[in-house]
Amino acid sequence: MKCPKCNTDNGQRSVCKNCGLFLYKADHRNAPKLSEKEIKQRDRQTILRVVKKALRFIAIIISTFIISFLVYLLLIFVFDIV
Ligand SMILES: [Zn+2]
Repeated sequence: MKCPKCNTDNGQRSVCKNCGLFLYKADHRNAPKLSEKEIKQRDRQTILRVVKKALRFIAIIISTFIISFLVYLLLIFVFDIV
């Protein structure tokens, strides 16, 4: 990012290496301020995403257990092993 004061290119730095001016990222400064309702909605979406991910993880574990149980039953009844 270029310093608006002395025009030094500072790359990803947040403080100008030449004059010490604080450089804020434009997208942070210009981001529209979220209302409380929007923040709550965003939080809910974040939580929902985490819950969905957790549920998918649990579903994979449960299906793994069910499959191994079915294989176990298969071994007992079809092949008469165990
Ligand atoms: Zn500067």
